[in-house]
Amino acid sequence: MNRWKDEQVIVLGMAKSGVAVAKLLHRFGANVIVNDKKPREEASGVEELEALGITVLTGGHPDDLIHPGVSLVVKNPGIPYEAPPVAKAVALGIPVITEVELAYHLSKAPIVGITGSNGKTTTTTLVGQMLKAAGISVRVGGNIGTVLCELAETAHSDQWLVAELSSFQLMGTEHFRPRIGTILNLYPAHLDYHKTLEKYFAAKQKLFANQTADDYAVLPYDQPEVRALAERLPSQVYYFSRRSAVRPGVFIREGKIVWADEAGREEVVMAVDEVALRGEHNLENALAAALISRLAGADLAAIASVLSTFTGLAHRLEFVAEIHGVKYYNDSKATNPVAAIRSIGAFEEPIVLIAGGLDRGIDFRDLVPVMKEHVKGLVAYGQTAEILLARAREAGIDNCIRVDTVEEAVFAAAKLAQTGDVVLLSPACASWDMFPSYEVRGSMFKDGVHRLKTSLV
Ligand code: ADP
Repeated sequence: MNRWKDEQVIVLGMAKSGVAVAKLLHRFGANVIVNDKKPREEASGVEELEALGITVLTGGHPDDLIHPGVSLVVKNPGIPYEAPPVAKAVALGIPVITEVELAYHLSKAPIVGITGSNGKTTTTTLVGQMLKAAGISVRVGGNIGTVLCELAETAHSDQWLVAELSSFQLMGTEHFRPRIGTILNLYPAHLDYHKTLEKYFAAKQKLFANQTADDYAVLPYDQPEVRALAERLPSQVYYFSRRSAVRPGVFIREGKIVWADEAGREEVVMAVDEVALRGEHNLENALAAALISRLAGADLAAIASVLSTFTGLAHRLEFVAEIHGVKYYNDSKATNPVAAIRSIGAFEEPIVLIAGGLDRGIDFRDLVPVMKEHVKGLVAYGQTAEILLARAREAGIDNCIRVDTVEEAVFAAAKLAQTGDVVLLSPACASWDMFPSYEVRGSMFKDGVHRLKTSLV
């Protein structure tokens, strides 16, 4: 990292990761300028950085910010490449990276990199817990929790650094090389940023760009377009599959999770019905996590113990309460139709679905079959309420209600539900039309459920 000493570095975007990167590069002696287009009063961390002697420019991108004397630009993953300072840096041939690239250079620990359209946080958390249960020292971060380069700076060679990675973060990598990397799955997502599925997939594939024969690539056997990457990768490829007996890898056969090593030797990990997580999608996450953890050195008993006890993260098919025989689940993290479809399909009980949110121009046609099969009533809100109600009617659902708030939605859903039913918040949309985050949306749903409970006793 001495290579940045006295060099001019621009950090674009002040969020948590920008502040961490600026402090880090400052410690390494770089001449750091942080820039955010937000006004000063909305940017957090300004005083902290200025107290260290770091220049902070807010309220826009100055025209002369990027010039040939700049050695490096570290950008927040959400800033698009069309943003003027990024475009200028690229045109001048200045390296533009995200903080995970820095983390790679800093880390003495080997890295597990986990990406995919859905299931990243669940799988990353599972891997962290499995390694811990196996007595292996581990640090978990990236797109979740602590900024990766902060964890990387003090990571030891006898630890693992387990990182959840978004396509945005991966686009800004150059030499990043995970010892174990996985693309869990690939669905059309974030197309407002990447424009085409090909470009989105290309960003995800950067995960494997620097792997060698010493590294492992973990691929979903059941998704042929991702599986096909195997032919092009120099790394050792392992698969996970719900449907086929793969080797080497982890798969399901006759109700059992099986691990098969490169010599074809098989061992049963556990029975599928002992896995505590609900839903087929989570079973895929469980298989991937088991495989990654096995490759990182965890024993099968540790892997099985985590899978039999881990019931999931907040806002992901999170059980909230049972009121008069109706179970309420918060799946606010289902911010796209694919995620919602998987969650809806995870229940055998009839569902009163609460959905809606930010309009990204999706037509929600894919929801019709799963609604037909599982949903008895829809309560819709937000920008997409009308189109979702239209799809529900197409699916033959008579009980369709439009509301204005999530709390109203809880009370409306309670009226439609009977003993034995499930009320599920699985919005199929991002939250930003009405809430600052999916977490706030999920918490308001939970508050609504608790208020309903009190009002009914
Ligand atoms: P991410 O971090 O990639 O957003 P999470 O683990 O937070 O993923 O899960 C988010 C939502 O995505 C879940 O609530 C679930 O509805 C859906 N999901 C999780 N895993 C999968 C998967 N393997 N395939 C499809 N959908 C999934």
